[in-house]
Amino acid sequence: MSSTEKKLVLGNNLKQVTSDLHRHFNFTLGHFDTDETDGEMLNALALTVRDRVMERWRLSIEDEKNNAKKKVFYLSLEFLLGRSLTNTVLNLDLDEAVRTALKDFGCAYEDIESEEKDAGLGNGGLGRLAACFMDSCASLNLPVTGYGIRYEYGMFHQSFDEGYQIEQPDHWLRDGSPWEIERPKDTKHVKFYGHSEFYTNEQGEQCARWCNTQDVLAVPYDMPIPGYRNDKINTLRLWKAAATDEFNLADFNAGDYSDAVAQKNTAEQITMVLYPNDSSESGKELRLRQQYFLASASLQDVLDTWTKENKKDFSTFAESHCFQLNDTHPTLAVAELMRLLVDDYNQQWDEAWAITCQTMAYTNHTLLPEALEKWSVRLIGQLLPRILDIIYEINSRFLQEVAQKWPGDVDRQRRMSIIEEGDEPHVRMAYLAIIGSFSVNGVAALHSQLLTTGLFKDFHDLWPKKFNNKTNGVTPRRWLAHCNKELSQLMNSAIGDKWVCHLDDLAKLKKYAGDTAFQDKWRQVKYNNKVRLANLVNQKCGVNFDPQFMFDVQVKRIHEYKRQLLNVLHIIHLYDRVIRGEEILPRCVLIGGKAAPGYAFAKLIIKLTNNVAKVVNSDPKVASKLKVVFFPNYRVTSMEVICPATDLSEQISTAGKEASGTGNMKFMMNGAITIGTYDGANIEILDAVGEDNFFLFGLKVGEIAQYRAYNNPNDLIAVDEDLRRVINLIECGHFSMFEPGVFEPIIRSIRNPNDPWMVAADFRSYIDTQELAAQAYADTNRWTRSSILNTASSGHFSSDRTIREYANQIWSI
Ligand SMILES: *Cc1c(COP(=O)(O)O)cnc(C)c1O
Repeated sequence: MSSTEKKLVLGNNLKQVTSDLHRHFNFTLGHFDTDETDGEMLNALALTVRDRVMERWRLSIEDEKNNAKKKVFYLSLEFLLGRSLTNTVLNLDLDEAVRTALKDFGCAYEDIESEEKDAGLGNGGLGRLAACFMDSCASLNLPVTGYGIRYEYGMFHQSFDEGYQIEQPDHWLRDGSPWEIERPKDTKHVKFYGHSEFYTNEQGEQCARWCNTQDVLAVPYDMPIPGYRNDKINTLRLWKAAATDEFNLADFNAGDYSDAVAQKNTAEQITMVLYPNDSSESGKELRLRQQYFLASASLQDVLDTWTKENKKDFSTFAESHCFQLNDTHPTLAVAELMRLLVDDYNQQWDEAWAITCQTMAYTNHTLLPEALEKWSVRLIGQLLPRILDIIYEINSRFLQEVAQKWPGDVDRQRRMSIIEEGDEPHVRMAYLAIIGSFSVNGVAALHSQLLTTGLFKDFHDLWPKKFNNKTNGVTPRRWLAHCNKELSQLMNSAIGDKWVCHLDDLAKLKKYAGDTAFQDKWRQVKYNNKVRLANLVNQKCGVNFDPQFMFDVQVKRIHEYKRQLLNVLHIIHLYDRVIRGEEILPRCVLIGGKAAPGYAFAKLIIKLTNNVAKVVNSDPKVASKLKVVFFPNYRVTSMEVICPATDLSEQISTAGKEASGTGNMKFMMNGAITIGTYDGANIEILDAVGEDNFFLFGLKVGEIAQYRAYNNPNDLIAVDEDLRRVINLIECGHFSMFEPGVFEPIIRSIRNPNDPWMVAADFRSYIDTQELAAQAYADTNRWTRSSILNTASSGHFSSDRTIREYANQIWSI
């Protein structure tokens, strides 16, 4: 029994869980009969579970205060958590008690859990990574706190009108959340606007202060992050913006009471909504305010805790703290830490800079130029004048270092400067992050290598040792144990249940890969999962998926580089073959994902998919061979049903564009076989599972430039009959009878000789490899063997492995 366990009072047994459930239902929530809705039952259950979280949380905080030598803070503008109830029940080992207690109440656990809204505080992979990391840190008992923003509205809800995406607000907090605890005592003041003032202090030192600011309050809301069955609860602290009482006191005193109160909105706006852009910057002032708000509130929080114990002695601060920046979004933390240390705590610049460079670490997530954040100097100067001074000072000292290393190389100084000169000078956030950090990592081997040879080459020449790789991972608790309970049970009966925390243990399944009795059970589980997804597809799309068909799935944000378009061309090709009277392997194709509301081309791909689906699904000649849906409102909760039911996982990005991918890992873990390009973590998946169990196609990074120089999409279309027929079907309006010409931009993009996404170029290789996948699927034993080997080889893609690498090689905890 652990020392924590001895101090726990609330039991996990059926009797105590039932009694608490009744107590919360009747007394906390005030319901008097069982004639209440599932939603009200959810609240009573969540409170019952939360009580058990609370006692562990308190002990974890106490333990960390006494024992943690070094603490890590994960700063991220996004945490895509999904639902909390089921995850907490799993991690606290409450599943059996909860199921039975609810049954006695006349409720089914599945009905109650489905009432919970997703916490959709993120766009896609980057936000979900942060959530998986939080789970792994707690499960590995590491002292890691997450800092983020408590958006009132999370990722928008997606529906369709005439095949076009419609966005609706996601007011996930409307009915409150049982998982957040407001901590008003820890409220911070965040400064905006005003100006810098320079003065000499009593010791005769030159000092600066930021005056005449308009302050916004940052109020923390803590969410518990439970570890897997280890009684550890870490904290995710999310900041909400609120107006100060002094806000516009002048207006107030002038009798403009209503105007003064209305002004509160501008403060509270900061945390109103998540920006729905994935892999592209918004450039909006409000977004910059969100970024600084998070950086400032979080750093003040850490420094307040420190100075309470240590006063202004920062001599051991660096060795006991580390800040991990999830992309450049929280990078103003570099300048803000300098400001707090120098202006507020009277540290000398050099000492403060040493602390900053020893505590900040930066994770890069993309090579796409449109995603590299730049903020205009004018905007930063207006909104955060003191921060701009500090960025200039950091830059000028840095450029001296560059000049010393490469005397006279002014071009290199210009290239490496934090400030990009031009009509409108900009601050390059990635450069600020690299210069202020001791570690810079990419998220898959290929991506990290491309960073050092391309985008950040100059910085790699200067500081080669700063750069490293940490291949992403996903948590096996949510993405296997929770979402695929039947497969988990089957695996437990064969190899035990150690894999939940030691995913490499799945390798023990390899010896069952050829065992026909085990294969039959494996196939039956997949079939049951396909039935579950088919029911969901029928409910959401009104289309019947036959679980005997191959389930071919691509779910992820809609983006040209992810090439949903290539997938749609393949669907049209299959349709064309059926119409021509050819035999094809029966397939159900599911595509899902949200397009950024301002990304017209991505939205047009959704429209095309919906139109193709409509034509395919309504043709009786095709019905026994092919079904297509665009699955609406793809989110964490849908992926939990989709990935266990998938046979073929589509990971078909243009080589060199997908930094890592994590969807690919969830599918692999659940026994899907990948059809994919040589890109991101696909390469490491291929390495792990072997080429017999992976359908590789397409140009590699190094081949693209040369191929483009010698090949024009229009020539390819002319010589490839299959491609020509597909393009003709779109061009002739077969999928746009009532809206002639709507897909014109798509045709133009495919035919563009400079198409950056290489859609026409990879078509032939993709179609041929799809045919190989179809043949492999027809050989049931071969496919099942491959499926088992995929799960068995997925150990490397646990976020526990990733976090161990961060902990050992970056954080030193
Ligand atoms: C895993 C996940 C992603 C990331 O998918 P990729 O295929 O790696 O882009 C995006 N959204 C959700 C909801 C996810 O669960």
